[in-house]
Amino acid sequence: MNIHEYQAKEVLAKFGVAIPKGFAALSVEDAVKAAEQLPGPLYVVKAQIHAGGRGKGKFKELGPDAKGGVRLSKTLDDVRTNAGEMLGNTLVTIQTGEAGKQVNRLYVTDGADIAKEYYLSMLVDRASGRIAMVVSTEGGMDIEAVAHDTPEKIQTITIDPAEGFQPHHGRAVAFALKLKGDLNKQAAKVAEQLYNAFLATDMAMLEVNPLVETTDGQLLVLDAKVSFDSNSLYRHPDILALRDETEEDPAEVEASKYDLAYIKLDGDIGCMVNGAGLAMATMDIIKLNGMFPANFLDVGGGANKEKVTAAFKIILQDPNVKGILVNIFGGIMKCDVIAEGIVAAAKEVNLSVPLVVRLEGTNVQLGKEIMANSGLPIVPADDLGDAAKKIVAEVKKAA
Ligand code: GDP
Ligand code: MG
Repeated sequence: MNIHEYQAKEVLAKFGVAIPKGFAALSVEDAVKAAEQLPGPLYVVKAQIHAGGRGKGKFKELGPDAKGGVRLSKTLDDVRTNAGEMLGNTLVTIQTGEAGKQVNRLYVTDGADIAKEYYLSMLVDRASGRIAMVVSTEGGMDIEAVAHDTPEKIQTITIDPAEGFQPHHGRAVAFALKLKGDLNKQAAKVAEQLYNAFLATDMAMLEVNPLVETTDGQLLVLDAKVSFDSNSLYRHPDILALRDETEEDPAEVEASKYDLAYIKLDGDIGCMVNGAGLAMATMDIIKLNGMFPANFLDVGGGANKEKVTAAFKIILQDPNVKGILVNIFGGIMKCDVIAEGIVAAAKEVNLSVPLVVRLEGTNVQLGKEIMANSGLPIVPADDLGDAAKKIVAEVKKAA
């Protein structure tokens, strides 16, 4: 689960991390009021969307010459103008895709005088089984270019969670950032605070870009992007409360209500499968037959009628879907029960695209009979290869 920058900074501040003062705002008036409570003379108006690259982003409605989604503002009038130009408009960044994201929320912060920008991120590194802290002296808006052109300027320090964050980790971070004196101490401290926040809240990723050194010698977290491990949210109700569903794919939100693991993809064949491994294999075999999956969808072990109906509806919401392949192994659930669910769901949603069903497992014969006698144009398949061939052929025939 992702959260907004202002929320991420509030979480980090609880662990002692130094952040610029600021307030979230949902309207132009609130943005101006927020600025009035800040010391000035510089204010920063920042679009709050679940995507990075806002500074270099472009608003669809404003044309290529307008400023991006992070705007330095020197007066309250500037704050008003900038807030007005951003709210309600669509920001396109390298991370949003072409469609962009509508800006419904702003963050107005105290502007910092920046001497230098650094980079610091953390993630769970599966290769080492540790937490990796990735740091660079070249922070700011071009970190992707740094990674590509001068990867030696990016250093990784791994921390064994069993050992925990030790003073030598802090020194390693400060050394990698080439910081001396008090800044060196501040870097070690902020690295430890970020580690503590990361661990305590079950983050999956934390990116601070930039971490800045101000002209008066302070290290500040100027931007923060955080995502949490969704599997741990049950133990963090305070974090779960930060979820902003308007930022998520509506179909994925709907799927999560039914406990369906759904991820939208770009292809034409909707897939309904039980078990993540079988779902991956189904996607692979569709590709092998020359077409692409429109989604990943794991209906889970207990695929009842309600779940199957919800899954059909979610798949059919995607206008790209030209056919559906159901591939279910009836182990925990019996095939006849699944077949009844599929038939009932297909009738309820008025299925308008070809449907190929491959069932295997307990009571498979009974299941096939239920589908054959349903009066619906369901195409039965015998195995995975057969199913993929048939759905591709059906979709081509229908085209
Ligand atoms: P991003 O583009 O989505 O990563 O948004 P950031 O919050 O990282 O802001 C982009 C850039 O705007 C930063 O790299 C800074 O160069 C600049 N910026 C952001 N906040 C301030 C500030 O308080 N003062 C100054 N001078 N620049 C800022
Ligand atoms: Mg940034």
